[in-house]
Amino acid sequence: MPASFSHPTPLSPPPSSVSPVVTRRSALLAGMSLLTFPASHLAAATAPSGVWPKALEVPGGIARLPLGPAAERPVAFAGDVPVLVLGDAAEWTALLGIALSAEPGEASITVQAADGTQRQLAYTVAAKQYREQHLKVEPRTVDLSPEDQARYERERAHQAVVMATFSQPVPEAPLRMQVPVPGRRSSSFGLRRVFNGQARNPHSGMDIAAATGTPVVAPLPGRVIDTGDYFFNGNTVWLDHGGGLLSMYCHLSATNVQPGDMLKTGERLGAVGATGRVTGPHLHWGVMLNRTMVDPALFLAA
Ligand code: ZN
Repeated sequence: MPASFSHPTPLSPPPSSVSPVVTRRSALLAGMSLLTFPASHLAAATAPSGVWPKALEVPGGIARLPLGPAAERPVAFAGDVPVLVLGDAAEWTALLGIALSAEPGEASITVQAADGTQRQLAYTVAAKQYREQHLKVEPRTVDLSPEDQARYERERAHQAVVMATFSQPVPEAPLRMQVPVPGRRSSSFGLRRVFNGQARNPHSGMDIAAATGTPVVAPLPGRVIDTGDYFFNGNTVWLDHGGGLLSMYCHLSATNVQPGDMLKTGERLGAVGATGRVTGPHLHWGVMLNRTMVDPALFLAA
């Protein structure tokens, strides 16, 4: 299951039907027009309070799948990707990230009990129509040089390894996150952008507008698993919260952490900036479950 995000991290392999030229253009375009703050607000953040993340069984959302009681924590897989399982002997729950590219309809995960017995657990993905944005840009501004293309390919391979991190212990519920930086939050998660008539991967995170230098903090306890200066994402920090729950922070002006550092909630990891392919300072914040980018708003109180 390819991770489905391109802005600002076009890491997933392009569909085989896409020509190399289109792919290169899409990759570069992924880094453009980054500040999008439409007027409408997230409809997702209206689930019952007291449970985080909120369940929203649509592409880009999260399914909370009850697994029942068991003496030992079951393991669950979406395909061959391990899924976060929370709870205790009285009730286990699988927290499943649903890819933005998921088709509406029936799907299932595999649940394996401690004794090895396996079963399929079905869930339903409801349709969600994300907004579409059409932009016209100069064609010559969207081609990567061979050097940049090679760099992007290397970075994509590296980040695919980062994204496959699944560590113990798993985090403890409730997974309510602190906003990593105060500022105006976009509702552009899932936004489908079309450049010069060419569709590309949807926006897979939340953009928060803030001045360069504003501290960015960990929204949950986590371990730093990657830092770097990437072509599209600029200065970036990845945190591992355990159990396949990861978060990423892009376009930072500076970082003050390195791989291996353990952060508490609210501890600074860097500062807002405009590094990488951006049009202005903001934080791009991504949250990943089972290698799938999900809407960060589902982890926030409001
Ligand atoms: Zn963004």
